Amino acid sequence: MKDILSPQELLSLMRTIQDARKIVICAHRGPDGDAMGSSLGFAEYLRNLGKSVAVIMPSPCPDFLKWLPGSENVIYFDHKPSLAKKLLEQTNLICCLDFNALSRLQDMAAYVEKSSAERLVIDHHLAPDPNMAKLIISHPEMSSTSEIVFRILYQIGGYETMTANGAAAIYCGMMTDTGGFTYSSNDPEIYNIISYLLQKGIDKDKIYRNVFNNYSTSRMRFLGYVLYEKLQFYADDRASIFSITRDELKRFNFIRGDAEGIVNFPLQVRGMRLSISLREDTERDVIRVSLRSVDDFPCNKMAEEFFNGGGHLNASGGELPFPMDEAIKTAQKAIEAYKDLL
Ligand code: 5GP
Ligand code: MN
Repeated sequence: MKDILSPQELLSLMRTIQDARKIVICAHRGPDGDAMGSSLGFAEYLRNLGKSVAVIMPSPCPDFLKWLPGSENVIYFDHKPSLAKKLLEQTNLICCLDFNALSRLQDMAAYVEKSSAERLVIDHHLAPDPNMAKLIISHPEMSSTSEIVFRILYQIGGYETMTANGAAAIYCGMMTDTGGFTYSSNDPEIYNIISYLLQKGIDKDKIYRNVFNNYSTSRMRFLGYVLYEKLQFYADDRASIFSITRDELKRFNFIRGDAEGIVNFPLQVRGMRLSISLREDTERDVIRVSLRSVDDFPCNKMAEEFFNGGGHLNASGGELPFPMDEAIKTAQKAIEAYKDLL
């Protein structure tokens, strides 16, 4: 497998880790499988080196990730702000995984900035903010931050001490960010990595079921409702929008994570290039926007231009500070503006 770190990066990373006794790892708000998986996988490596490691996320992960070994020890800033602030103050190193701008930590960002700790970024989003850290290991061409973490550990000798738990976390991150290896996953080396992870004794089929086949009956009804009642097609069925309100979430006994993945369903329609999901946030007065596309349709550009967000070519997100009816109009305008690319 090819080396991921240049000789300078390798030296700089080893030095950064060596100098730190207390380490905090964090990822973006609303941590997904990759945010959780890469953080837990990297945490295991650092703990094996004898470091004192805390994983702190701005907000909780969805229920379908709670099986991840070690997730029970993750600290959520929203739930335990004083503990999180104390740890951020006392730490020597803050590792920022799976995000490219401190603003994606929201309320937690100020405390990361205030801390005198050195910072390290490991990420696969485009164009990381150069002020985030001295050492930024950025690989937008890679499937997931978890893949980057695996490659780093493999290069610096962390594979030997990796346990089945660490391997499961990394596998989970790679699997979720590629939709079960159905997109962003054509690099043949990904399958070498999977082979290495399997050699640690992970049950990849069970990991798939834990994540993708772990819904409640009401979520199944909710999915049916959204597809039947809420989904609208545009641009000769090459684009679609659906919206989900708080009332609807309540009606279907929504729990965190239930809305995840629904945005991928419209892409099953022949010729569909873009799917837009608009969902009222359950905690803040904003509409969360998720975009998914296929081939060369740039949903990150659309997210930047219309939805105060960004992301990857085929998977992006953002948010709108409007009521739902205005958000729908904005999404319709976005489709109209991009119709030549659809
Ligand atoms: P999701 O639709 O799963 O929430 O997000 C898909 C991808 O879009 C994420 O992996 C991330 O790259 C990007 N993304 C989601 N929300 C935001 C946002 O608010 N701002 C930015 N810059 N990117 C986002
Ligand atoms: Mn990711």
